[in-house]
Amino acid sequence: MKAKDILNKVIKKEISVKEVVQRYLSNIQKQNSFYNAFITVFDEDFINKQIERSQKMIQEGNFSPVVGLPVAIKDNINVKGFPTTCASNILKNYISPYNATVVEKLYSAGAIIVGKTNLDEFAMGSSNENSFFGPVKNPLNPKLVPGGSSGGSAVAVASDMVTLSLGSDTGGSIRLPAAFCGIYGIKPTYGVVSRYGLVAFASSLDQIGAFSKYSEDLALIMQVISGYDPYDSTSSKDFIPDFIDESFNIKLSIKDLTNIKIGFPSKIVNDSAVEDIIKNSITELLLLLEKNGSIIKEIDFPYLEYSIPTYYIIATSEASSNLARYDGVRYGLRVEAQDLRTMIKKTRGEGFGLEVKRRILTGTFCLSSGYYDAYYKKALQVRNLIKKDFENIFKEVDFIIIPTSPTLPWKIGEKINDPIKMYLSDIYTVSINLAGLPSINIPYYNDYFPVGIQIISNYFTESDLLSISFLIENLTK
Ligand code: GLN
Repeated sequence: MKAKDILNKVIKKEISVKEVVQRYLSNIQKQNSFYNAFITVFDEDFINKQIERSQKMIQEGNFSPVVGLPVAIKDNINVKGFPTTCASNILKNYISPYNATVVEKLYSAGAIIVGKTNLDEFAMGSSNENSFFGPVKNPLNPKLVPGGSSGGSAVAVASDMVTLSLGSDTGGSIRLPAAFCGIYGIKPTYGVVSRYGLVAFASSLDQIGAFSKYSEDLALIMQVISGYDPYDSTSSKDFIPDFIDESFNIKLSIKDLTNIKIGFPSKIVNDSAVEDIIKNSITELLLLLEKNGSIIKEIDFPYLEYSIPTYYIIATSEASSNLARYDGVRYGLRVEAQDLRTMIKKTRGEGFGLEVKRRILTGTFCLSSGYYDAYYKKALQVRNLIKKDFENIFKEVDFIIIPTSPTLPWKIGEKINDPIKMYLSDIYTVSINLAGLPSINIPYYNDYFPVGIQIISNYFTESDLLSISFLIENLTK
């Protein structure tokens, strides 16, 4: 069922919040041990308290876009009083001392937060196999990866364990798992959603966003979590979310597809790294859009090929600095030793997994004197060029359509020993974070397997993005 329809029933008191939540909790009970989507499911007492509060809001006519809806939170976002593990051994016993702003907003809006979802350790990965708590399985085919790093949040929604969930996206971690699980996932413009309470991976790229099964449902949760937050100095003061009307219907800033200008870099069709099913699905969708009056324009993306090295230099550099705080003194795990240096070494040695260590080493190298100019500084310059690419493209078109991933999900274990191959699956997502643009994954259903298609729009045009997603959803369903 759509979150939107559940919301309507709950508001009209046709169904109680308790009934809704119980239904979803029983799905968690039945399915979670198999899919491994949740690291923590909250205790009954805590969930019941939320249900009571939410039902009371409804009784008092105090409605919100997410009142009574079961929601899951990626386990790198703080929920006070519960563990925030980041799927890492180093934080496995760490209890959040405060709520992230997005969590505070969901509570105030009467959502029911049921637990924390699995991820790649510290959100580093594309398959959700880098978790201290084990890999997550894809509900479309449990032999396949669900995508990462927000794999647990995607699977929780795709397998009806919650109506909606939050993830974080530094280089594709919402869009890729949404694509692999056949659902919707939005990564907002940098600054639209507060990062306060999100554990930092690469601060200039990280954004919180959401998953859902329907585009309209994304509008509901985005309405609640977006907006200025004085606790996040990079959050935008000017952006005011306006995604839904008083009856909680999506507000369409674009009413139909006629004369909408869509950019597509057609060299993707000749790229041998892109699987045929992905090419065919995109081509089909573009034809359909054209038939409905949209104008498809060829666009050029000269710096796209540099986006992977640029991203992996900037992201690892920032990560090496952000993760310096896990030293056995301030947070989480401490492995005792006879002196301080040995204690720090042992703690980090045992606490971090292989991929996280690889990133810290790469980032430390890129930032070290003698290499800084050649790597980090150069990457920042290329980042600027990538941004300019997008600025030029958006002078000509309203949206860009590209694949979310060059391939369908692969088998669990298939790429785990080949990090470069794994990194290459991010080719179409990372440039959007480098530029700070908003982007959404929409599932395109064919007879074989849903294909994730990415729509990108200009800064702060989330309304347009949600609108076109809704229009395409209606066209293709
Ligand atoms: N797959 C990318 C990485 O491993 C993106 C991760 C993310 O968006 N958190 O860095």
